[in-house]
Amino acid sequence: MTDFEQGPIRPPSEAASMLVRVSRNCPWNRCAFCPVYKKRKFSLRSVDQVLADLDAMRELYGDAPATVFLQDANPLLTKPDDLVKIIAGIRERFPKVERITAYARSHTLARRKLEDLERIRQAGLNRIHVGMESGCDDVLTLVSKGSTRAEQIEGGRRAKQAGFELSEYIMPGLGGKEFSKAHADDSASALVEIKPDFVRLRTTAVIPATPLAELQEQGKFVALTELELVEEIRRFLSGLEGLETRLESDHMLNLLMELRGDLPGDLERLIGICDDFLKLSKDEQLKFILARRLGWMGRIEDLDKPAFQKEIKRVFSDLEQQGIDPEEFFSEMRKRMV
Ligand code: SF4
Repeated sequence: MTDFEQGPIRPPSEAASMLVRVSRNCPWNRCAFCPVYKKRKFSLRSVDQVLADLDAMRELYGDAPATVFLQDANPLLTKPDDLVKIIAGIRERFPKVERITAYARSHTLARRKLEDLERIRQAGLNRIHVGMESGCDDVLTLVSKGSTRAEQIEGGRRAKQAGFELSEYIMPGLGGKEFSKAHADDSASALVEIKPDFVRLRTTAVIPATPLAELQEQGKFVALTELELVEEIRRFLSGLEGLETRLESDHMLNLLMELRGDLPGDLERLIGICDDFLKLSKDEQLKFILARRLGWMGRIEDLDKPAFQKEIKRVFSDLEQQGIDPEEFFSEMRKRMV
């Protein structure tokens, strides 16, 4: 038998990982921006079920996988003893595995005993990805994240203390226009306290039929323009002074994919990339945004290349003829990238 379960998502950085479903769906399921598990019920899977999946995966993949990602949204809710057995089961069947990673909610990490987290780490779970999204309580409340700033900091610190590599996701634009500055400042200061190994950017997109889309309709959430997003990210980066971490812009939703580097050494360079964009003429900014959203350009310097200039002109003229505001078009393109 080569049948096994797989959940719907994994972080972009785990694209090559073997996906092992330890729990199904999300126990919280209320984050306003998140369409992933809505209407699906959370459940834990038994150790036997997961071990049977591992046997089937071993038959299919041999011992080739080098990295493994535990699904779905919060496998750390599994009893520590069971999780240790599952991780040991992976290590036994796949001895070449170099890294095992999982998502975890800060709310859960903040409540797990340190000794349990340490046992899970020692069993072989190397890295935890936390969807922190924001370090600002107003934003966390607005989007019903179900974790406070204090829990985000406590959860992150505990993960570090237990010896995990920690990856924290931040969502530029999540506070909308109202909380943009506080979102940037409080997220940066929370990260400085947590000291994660990775900070990953994932720009907010308002997905239809999500609670965030409803908030937008009610006027309680006003999305940032692409320009405002870059201003917010610049402000956020300025708040990371002194933090030692790896900053990654590894999600297609991000406008500036080149915002990647090792902090603190690369911080000035990364702020400079935001400035390079902000200093462009309005026309050049629109051209770059359009070309990025259509997947034609990756870096600001690509603007100097003659390729696509004709197509860019044509798309703008089509939008004008159809009476479509470019900002609306960019927002539509972002939705399609989720
Ligand atoms: S963002 Fe994560 S915690 Fe929030 S509802 Fe989606 S899967 Fe659950």
